[in-house]
Amino acid sequence: MRKYVIMGIQGSGKGTQAQLLAADFDLVHIAVGDIFRWNVEQHTKLGAHVRRIMSVGELVDDEVVESIVRERLERHDWNYGFIIDGFPRNARQAEFFLESYDIDGVILLEMPDEDVAGRVLSRRICSACGLDDDVAGRDPAEADVCAACGGQLVAREDDNPEALAARLRDYHEKTKPIVELFERKEFVARVDATQSIPVVQTEIRRQLGL
Ligand code: ADP
Ligand code: ZN
Repeated sequence: MRKYVIMGIQGSGKGTQAQLLAADFDLVHIAVGDIFRWNVEQHTKLGAHVRRIMSVGELVDDEVVESIVRERLERHDWNYGFIIDGFPRNARQAEFFLESYDIDGVILLEMPDEDVAGRVLSRRICSACGLDDDVAGRDPAEADVCAACGGQLVAREDDNPEALAARLRDYHEKTKPIVELFERKEFVARVDATQSIPVVQTEIRRQLGL
C-alpha cells in the first residue's frame, strides 16, 4: 500500500505527475480540484456552492473540503494506494489529514513564481477527453484542437490573471507553510519541476524508491 500527497505551486504539474505515477503503480489519483470541477459541470448542490469561490481563485471552506476527502477515501477503492493532489492546502487541513491517515511520503514540486503565469495562462483542457494541453507558441488555427482526440480545448475558468494572483497568494500564505509541518513528520521528496515531464517523473520515483 502506497499513500502519497503531491504538492506544488500552480502550474508545477501536480496533476500530470500524479497521473503518471498512479497509472504505473495502480494508485487512485484523488484531485480535489477535479472533484469540484466535476460537480460544477454536473450542476450538483456542491457545484453550486463552490462555483463562485473557485472562479475567483479562493479556497473552498475547510469543512466542505474535509468531508469530500473523507468520503472519497472511505470508498476504499484504492487497493494499492492513493496519491492525493490539491489537499491539504492549509494548516487546518494538514492537521485533519495527519490525524486521520498515515502517509508514506510527500512529493513537493518546486518551481519559481516567474514560471507560473507562462504555464498556467497557456494551459488548456480538452472538453472531450480531459487531457491537459499547452498551446503556447502554437499555430492559432490549431490552438483550440486537442492533439490527442481532436476535441475542443478550453481554458479553465480560474486560469485568468486575477484568479491566478489570488491562488498564488494563498499558496504562499497558507499552503507553503505546511511543507515545514510535513517535514517534521514525513518524508518529503523535493523535485525541480522546471525540468521536462519524464525527468520530473524519474526523479520522483528515484526519491520515493519506486
Ligand atoms: P490549482 O492548484 O491550480 O489552484 P486545483 O485544480 O487544485 O488548482 O483547485 C482548483 C480550485 O479548487 C482552488 O482554487 C480552490 O477554489 C478549490 N480547491 C481545491 N482544493 C482545495 C482545498 N484543499 N481547499 C480549499 N479549496 C480547494
Ligand atoms: Zn482530447
